[in-house]
Amino acid sequence: MTPRLAAVWFRRDLRVLDHGPLLAAARQGPVVCVYCVDPRELGVSREAGLPRLGAHRARFLLESLADLRDGLRRLGGELLVRRGGPEHVLPALARQLGWSQLLFHRLVGTEEEQVERAVEAAMAAVGCQVVTCWDRTLVPLDALPFAVSATPEVFTSFRERVEALAGAVPPLPAVPSLVAAHPEVDPGPLPTLAEFGLDEPTPDPRAVLPFRGGATAGRARLQAWLWDQDRLRHYKQTRNGMIGADYSSKFSPWLALGCLSARQVQAEIGRYEAERVRNESTYWLTFELLWRDYFQLIARKHGARLFAASGLRGIAVPWRRDRAAFERWCTGRTGIPLVDANLRELLATGFLSNRGRQIVASFLTKNLGLDWRWGAEWFESRLIDHDVAANHGNWCYAAGVGNDARGFRYFDIAVQAAKYDRDGDYVKLWCPELAPLGNDVVHAPWTVPLGTRQRLGVDYPDPIVDLAASVAANRRAWEAAVGR
Ligand SMILES: Cc1cc2nc3c(=O)[nH]c(=O)nc-3n(C[C@H](O)[C@H](O)[C@H](O)COP(=O)(O)OP(=O)(O)OC[C@H]3O[C@@H](n4cnc5c(N)ncnc54)[C@H](O)[C@@H]3O)c2cc1C
Repeated sequence: MTPRLAAVWFRRDLRVLDHGPLLAAARQGPVVCVYCVDPRELGVSREAGLPRLGAHRARFLLESLADLRDGLRRLGGELLVRRGGPEHVLPALARQLGWSQLLFHRLVGTEEEQVERAVEAAMAAVGCQVVTCWDRTLVPLDALPFAVSATPEVFTSFRERVEALAGAVPPLPAVPSLVAAHPEVDPGPLPTLAEFGLDEPTPDPRAVLPFRGGATAGRARLQAWLWDQDRLRHYKQTRNGMIGADYSSKFSPWLALGCLSARQVQAEIGRYEAERVRNESTYWLTFELLWRDYFQLIARKHGARLFAASGLRGIAVPWRRDRAAFERWCTGRTGIPLVDANLRELLATGFLSNRGRQIVASFLTKNLGLDWRWGAEWFESRLIDHDVAANHGNWCYAAGVGNDARGFRYFDIAVQAAKYDRDGDYVKLWCPELAPLGNDVVHAPWTVPLGTRQRLGVDYPDPIVDLAASVAANRRAWEAAVGR
């Protein structure tokens, strides 16, 4: 009997380990593996008109694809790379190569779900069966104690109900080998930055890590941070840092593209707890992975509401759409050093600490009063770990239109500076023009007389807003929108 020919469509699951569709397909016989370079992902964003795929993230993606192709070839398989929308590419290939089954992982996000529906319809039209899997969360969907549509709105309620299930499902067994179907078919060239119209980003020596895309580099980071350097032991104490490679795991870029699965990370945490230590830090990394789960499920539950200006709660805040202010924010020229330092790091490296993300998101929405979706789209363009659920979910939350029951919350810059950058080291790293100022004023250069700043050669913009007055005005606008 001719073995059944199955195809695996790779999306944001660029790995060969712990991969349900690949394992299932390999168990049946010869496999075709495909990645589609979808032009829609290279377009401009909906609200701010920004390029959706910036150079840092693009480079990480290309490295991840190269590594996936290597990984598949080592197993005896091949990765076909094709240009075009998957709903066109996949049925055409199915007809050409004669598959009877297509397997893939589902994603969240309205566009992603729309593409899935189009692929399902197109495959049905060519008589090909579709089998889907889910790997975006630690806790499998069918193990949740509630329907996705009933996901608790508040994180703590969610966490309390799922926490015990976090390590319940181990990673899947490795695929031992693959038989490439149609080895005669041209695999197609991997995309390049030039093809995307992008230049190679200039490496910045101040970057927290020289991130490299791909499952091989992801597993190496897991090994180095968790085992070799033993950083997990103190993660709870270090995780709010902003400088250096190791204050947090930096797993997010690999998790976002699926070079690592959350299950793989959780399995290592479990092994670490069994072999080294189990403490509040080991617990906390699982806790953060559950935040990730939570945003995936919230995105799935709320669909298009996640992309509305009024957010999940439908709060009609009159967001401003002031281009000049937005550009000063994007380029780190707001005149507020802690905000600018973080935005310059993002611009130069494609990464930003969680603390930094919260500070700049609060500033954009609670001080500048700008449409939070512009900020989210800037992050989409720049962050190498961009993930639509984590990004829009966190932004919505930061803007006060997400599922946060705690009212108008903002990050007080002076408090943040005193707590997380007391000596100004972070600010001086990214805003070196402020280095001549003393530690007592480096976070508030506007308090130094202009003449003194000029004498010291400090060329730095005046604050774009008065911190206290702008928060008060935006609070009033938010409260009026909520109806308080
Ligand atoms: C405005 C804003 C936008 C964000 N956008 C993204 C995004 O596009 N992609 C993304 O992966 N994370 C996003 N985050 C969440 C978080 O900042 C990053 O996951 C984290 O900083 C990545 O660094 P790390 O891997 O060292 O994290 P660690 O502290 O080591 O945490 C481990 C993992 O837990 C997950 N995680 C941690 N915090 C969160 C969180 N708040 N929400 C969801 N998952 C979390 C991530 O997968 C992370 O890799 C955003 C946060 C904010 C405030």
